[in-house]
Amino acid sequence: VSAWAKVPQGPPVSITEAYKADSNPEKINLGVGAYRDDKGKPFVLPSVRAAEKKVVESTLDKEYAGITGVPTFTKAAALLAYGPDSAPIKEDRVAITQSISGTGALRIGGAFLERFYPGAKTIYIPTPSWANHNAVFKDSGLKVEKYRYYNKDTIGLDFDGMVADIKAMPKGSIILLHACAHNPTGVDPTEEQWVAIAEAVKEGDHYPFFDMAYQGFASGDTNKDAFALRHFIKEGLRPCLSQSFAKNMGLYGERVGAFSVVCESGEEKKRVDSQIKILVRPLYSNPPIHGARIASEILNDPALNKQWLGEVKDMADRIITMRALLKENLEKLGSKHDWSHITSQIGMFAYTGLKAEQMDVLAKEHSVYATKDGRISVAGITTGNVKRLAEAIYKVTG
Ligand code: PLP
Repeated sequence: VSAWAKVPQGPPVSITEAYKADSNPEKINLGVGAYRDDKGKPFVLPSVRAAEKKVVESTLDKEYAGITGVPTFTKAAALLAYGPDSAPIKEDRVAITQSISGTGALRIGGAFLERFYPGAKTIYIPTPSWANHNAVFKDSGLKVEKYRYYNKDTIGLDFDGMVADIKAMPKGSIILLHACAHNPTGVDPTEEQWVAIAEAVKEGDHYPFFDMAYQGFASGDTNKDAFALRHFIKEGLRPCLSQSFAKNMGLYGERVGAFSVVCESGEEKKRVDSQIKILVRPLYSNPPIHGARIASEILNDPALNKQWLGEVKDMADRIITMRALLKENLEKLGSKHDWSHITSQIGMFAYTGLKAEQMDVLAKEHSVYATKDGRISVAGITTGNVKRLAEAIYKVTG
């Protein structure tokens, strides 16, 4: 008998199977969490192509990186996130390691907290949150609890519920915060709300863990999207941070990311850094170099950097335009619903407020595929399909 005879069948992890099986030439895939151009095609940023060419032409060797990755990349990644005026950066007290994109950064963070966090090893994540958060933190050995975030009646932020839950957490709790472009809801706190959230976190002596998977991709401005992280630091909080370059550089499959810890001193940074190395070594020894070299070129070469910032803004702007077009089309059809949340939300995803049954009808009768929770990837909307999409949503919502 096979050693695996008792392995139970797991549920499918991917939502694209039904889409692939549909033969309708006008089918629309709003499930994928990746940017698409206005033709619905994957998009490689011209700055990435140029940086990659530079990397290839420099005929560097393929030796191993150190355990914490390509130093020119991590140094620039920290600068991008925390900003040149950041006190922890100026005082050289940020421990950072390259990671297998954002997911790997979260996993290193989870493992580091599990091993060294002096308080309760429970992390609070928003309801809802990116579906993988729960699994990543659970598998890192942390207990996962929830705090209120989304208000389904307003299709917006449950700000009062969120702050009340932060205040009710035991002192010194670990709290996971989406830095910008909250996934799956697209609902972000305003800057004033972030100020109040930071105050509540500080009051409770909580430990903030920022997940920043969309810096620049939300508003089009990398500084604006880093507001929450930077504000917490100005307030004297010392968060840890997961960064992904999947979306803002379109480096998805290259798996480029970083995990960093803001420390109290340079001496503390050295100790934290030594333990991150001990943690990473048995996981994967050291990270892949190609994508990090590309990102490093983009972040360190002034001309490429300028070009990239423009391209990030173009992506963000296309998404913002598609939101407006979808709303406009729904209104033109005479929809009586208030669709203002489509344009007030930000980032890759929109939470439509559609129910699971309605999402089923969208898929079965209109060949429009997305997740059951009503989340659509705005990146999958184009000037070519937005009208048909609006008609489908209109029919389903009456
Ligand atoms: N965190 C959030 C909130 C995300 O939405 C994603 C990707 O969808 C990630 C982290 C990690 O993505 P990756 O591992 O591709 O960088």
